[in-house]
Amino acid sequence: MLQGKKGVIFGVANNHSLAWSIARALDSAGATLAISCQGERFVKKIEKMAAEELKARPLVLVCDVQDEQQVARLYEQIASTFGRLDFLVHSIAYAGREDLEGRFLQTSREGFRLAMEISVYSLLAVTRPAVPLMGQGGSIVTLTYLGSQRFIPNYNVMGVAKAALEAAVRYLAGELGPAGIRVNALSAGPVNTLSARGIKDFSSFLHTAAAKAPLRRNISSEEVGEAALFLLSSLSRGITGETLYVDAGYHITGA
Ligand code: NAD
Repeated sequence: MLQGKKGVIFGVANNHSLAWSIARALDSAGATLAISCQGERFVKKIEKMAAEELKARPLVLVCDVQDEQQVARLYEQIASTFGRLDFLVHSIAYAGREDLEGRFLQTSREGFRLAMEISVYSLLAVTRPAVPLMGQGGSIVTLTYLGSQRFIPNYNVMGVAKAALEAAVRYLAGELGPAGIRVNALSAGPVNTLSARGIKDFSSFLHTAAAKAPLRRNISSEEVGEAALFLLSSLSRGITGETLYVDAGYHITGA
């Protein structure tokens, strides 16, 4: 489905990362990938994972999205290696552990700023330099969670960040649509990853979702990968500005 397509994936930390499941799905669909990680310390591990689990060797790059110079350097590397881009995956979020427990009311100014900058502004920061490389159109996907729409204890500032992220998706979709660039969010059910474990009582997210979702189970990261493949392929060419739930139906319940 993605034969001949080139794209960049932000947010692989390890083989539990949702971005890694997405990388696997896109790789099996024939895409040529650049994988961006937060720091040098991740590179060797990702290259080893790629050698073991991917068909084609990806370009593994480093980019801390808080640093404009690193973003610019990453895009220079992509432009010189790929020449163009067809898709982008943004799978990045961060909030301090102290802001993912207790009362939302107590979120500090700095904690709020940090969560918004890394989890929301970074979508703009990585999309802006991608646009000139998407001359033939493109597809952009970011990852969100139901805590954007509902009060979910302990999700706190990240729920507010995800609401802003989903709004940013609509604004970007509105602006970039005339250039043939689609922008969508994928709202995943809970999956046990490094970031998820930073949320207090995360295991209760898993138990509640499995007990109450219409499909009566949790989702797998492979299901997230395959939904991303759909949103990045021409199968979804009529869809933009959308939030697609991959959560075994949990969001439709009154739970
Ligand atoms: P993860 O920890 O594997 O991925 C988060 C990534 O963000 C990591 O690769 C980390 O290095 C990166 N990151 C954080 N700060 C960064 C920075 N300054 N610069 C560059 N990269 C930075 O966890 P995940 O669960 O795969 O999270 C990926 C996305 O999926 C996040 O947006 C998360 O909110 C979202 N999501 C996760 C779940 C879940 O239950 N795991 C559910 C819905 C949505």
